[in-house]
Amino acid sequence: MKVREVYIKTFGCQMNEHDSEKILGILFSKGFIETDDPKKADIIIFNTCAIREKAEQKFLSNLGKVKFYKIKNPKIKVIVAGCSAQIQGKNLIHKMPFIDYIIGPDNIDKIEKIVEESLDKRILLEENANIHLLSLPILRKDRVKAWVNIIYGCNNFCTYCVVPYTRGKERSRPANMILEEIKHLSEKGYKEVTLLGQNVNSYRDGEIDFPILLQRINLIQGIERIRFVTSHPKDLSENLIKTMRDSPKICEHIHLPLQSGSDKILKLMNRKYTFNEYFDKVSLLRENIPNISITTDIIVGFPQETDEDFEKTINALKKSQFDGIFAFKFSPRPKAPASNYRGQVDEYTKSERLTEVLRLQDEITEKNNKIYQDTVQEILVEERTEEGVIGRTRSNKIVKIKSNLELGQLVKVKISKTYRHSLEGEILQ
Ligand code: SF4
Repeated sequence: MKVREVYIKTFGCQMNEHDSEKILGILFSKGFIETDDPKKADIIIFNTCAIREKAEQKFLSNLGKVKFYKIKNPKIKVIVAGCSAQIQGKNLIHKMPFIDYIIGPDNIDKIEKIVEESLDKRILLEENANIHLLSLPILRKDRVKAWVNIIYGCNNFCTYCVVPYTRGKERSRPANMILEEIKHLSEKGYKEVTLLGQNVNSYRDGEIDFPILLQRINLIQGIERIRFVTSHPKDLSENLIKTMRDSPKICEHIHLPLQSGSDKILKLMNRKYTFNEYFDKVSLLRENIPNISITTDIIVGFPQETDEDFEKTINALKKSQFDGIFAFKFSPRPKAPASNYRGQVDEYTKSERLTEVLRLQDEITEKNNKIYQDTVQEILVEERTEEGVIGRTRSNKIVKIKSNLELGQLVKVKISKTYRHSLEGEILQ
């Protein structure tokens, strides 16, 4: 009997990447193998992202091509999963009737029933209150680093964001399930875990909050590095900062999305902090963990953002001296309230502001990287290339090393060259 093949294309964030690992885990347990050629596949899956219009357009153009594969081979099953599936729902099937199934992020476990052909419904979008209690098989591609979900959904309702409408309300996974999963990963040789959640800081399982969870993970033998994304600044507590400082395995890096330097815009975004409150936390992080690297997200051209508001973002970047940023133009999304705000900013102004932000941040990133020149860093080797290996510092900087080190090795490296987006190093004998 022919082995069935799955083609999967993932868009968007780490949460989606990890969901795809679970979808593949389920399918491999049913005997499927992965193919990178959609024309050969028995199942084609798009795991979609709705966060920005661009990501959605990219997925729609990919999906358009699939129609022709389906005409040639009507047996191919086409599944659209992820946040865009959740938002667009049956509209997507109306527009593209060749889609067989639409499944939202809370329903990825239904893939099993789809391949067993024991499901009548084609549209699976209902909130699954128990997704955080399921132990789904996971096909992890990386052998050194692993993602681990700790909390699903989000209760924050930032006015530009669709996540609370696509991934539902916050549900924390039981701590014992998380700890078991990480122990198992360490037995399999994983060295680094990244804890995932829309807002990891609001994790809670009874008495166990996020700092306590981190302290327990810190005790797991074999795991050498702990990272987490994403932290909402309003929930970053002093206790968490002290836990980061006092737990040797927690890496000296935090991604702390600022979004805007203007308090007026932060209020319109419903972010629940002012820039000064945000900056106080940055200062507290740097006081406690002097070599921490801090990265952020910035949105330019949010409705009603004037030149003066934008200038405040520029000043915030100068003052904060981030190690890196992800900057985007505001993108109106269905269901997100800010899409209907008055004072939408024109595309030309958004593009100009984005260019200015990126140019400034490039200078800051390059300057921050220069500080690493001639320092000794611990590197975890993550990838092999033709020229050698690539690893990361604890502060999440990419380091290229001309060497044939093994994947998963932790080595001390002297930084010999610095660039804007990476460093080069030599192994210390
Ligand atoms: S915290 Fe805000 S931006 Fe982040 S997922 Fe929740 S609503 Fe979206």
